[in-house]
Amino acid sequence: MTTARDPRFVAALAERVQGSVRPDDLLSRWSTYRIGGPATVLMPAQAEDVAVAVRFANEAGVPWFALGLGSNLLFPDDGLDALVIRIGKGLDRMVEQAGEWTLGAGLPAPLAAKRTAAAGWGGIHKMVGVPGSVGGGIVMNAGCHGAEWRDTVVRLLVMDASGAERVVWAADAGFSYRRSALGHVVVLEATVALAQEDATHLEAETESLYRWRKDGTPFNQPCCGSVFQNPVLPESWPDGHPRTSGQCIEAAGLKGLRVGGVEVSPMHANYFVNVGDGTAADVMALMRRVRHDVEARWGVNLIPEVKLIGRDGQVAALAP
Ligand SMILES: Cc1cc2nc3c(=O)[nH]c(=O)nc-3n(C[C@H](O)[C@H](O)[C@H](O)COP(=O)(O)OP(=O)(O)OC[C@H]3O[C@@H](n4cnc5c(N)ncnc54)[C@H](O)[C@@H]3O)c2cc1C
Repeated sequence: MTTARDPRFVAALAERVQGSVRPDDLLSRWSTYRIGGPATVLMPAQAEDVAVAVRFANEAGVPWFALGLGSNLLFPDDGLDALVIRIGKGLDRMVEQAGEWTLGAGLPAPLAAKRTAAAGWGGIHKMVGVPGSVGGGIVMNAGCHGAEWRDTVVRLLVMDASGAERVVWAADAGFSYRRSALGHVVVLEATVALAQEDATHLEAETESLYRWRKDGTPFNQPCCGSVFQNPVLPESWPDGHPRTSGQCIEAAGLKGLRVGGVEVSPMHANYFVNVGDGTAADVMALMRRVRHDVEARWGVNLIPEVKLIGRDGQVAALAP
């Protein structure tokens, strides 16, 4: 495997795209955990840059992957060989036509939620407390307060692994709980069907949901939101036993547990916060410890929701 950090690759890519190519960019800057070593990061100015980069990386044998707002990722401490294609400005348009809204993948989801609510369209307004991009929300099928992206998605425009644009209909996106099955693609746009509702009412709801998130979670500390998915429990699960991952972790007495610079949040046990110089190694060690103790106490096998990214940009499993 060739690395995207090779200066010849960086220079040749920079010649081919309109956007900027940032060598040795610290990934801690691009992750809400504020963790991660150096990588080559492309900031595409337009969809064509994504196509050019994907084709060029393929030819050079360099792995690549799309990054949104980095709010559900853990990057390695020693950085990446993969090219990071950071989807943000330039791919953040917002257009309404006959009740269907087309949202650029680089648009922050809270902004899309607020703007559609203010315009009197409901459906994605509950995403106001999910601090990711539209693209990352789609890939994760993110959701909260009972709403998920899959509820509103009609179709997606993606760049496939060969650098060709393709439409994917919602039924073919493989959405499930906090998952999609889009494969190795870059989401460029999502078209969602929203319903016309009273703007004042929607804005009030959006505001109160946002306040609820801020008051109930360590929203402004470096973290990635929920570390583990909520478990699927058997029907025989006794009343009064913890049901969510956060409840299981809290009831195992793990709130406030710290490894290095990372702590199980005393405010919400399924959030691990970087309290200083936390590293990816600290996060993973804490995840292993919590998973072990919850399994021992409640017999529940916690599955990571955060994506652990390996040097090649692929999602890695949490080592035992
Ligand atoms: C404080 C806090 C609260 C949170 N609360 C919630 C919550 O309530 N509900 C919830 O579901 N999540 C929550 N999260 C997690 C996170 O915000 C969501 O998963 C979010 O949708 C991730 O979007 P992102 O742009 O940050 O994606 P990233 O973290 O950048 O990426 C996540 C995955 O999506 C892929 N990806 C990103 N953009 C694209 C693209 N354009 N094309 C192809 N692949 C792409 C990445 O390769 C990666 O596999 C929270 C996180 C934080 C920090």
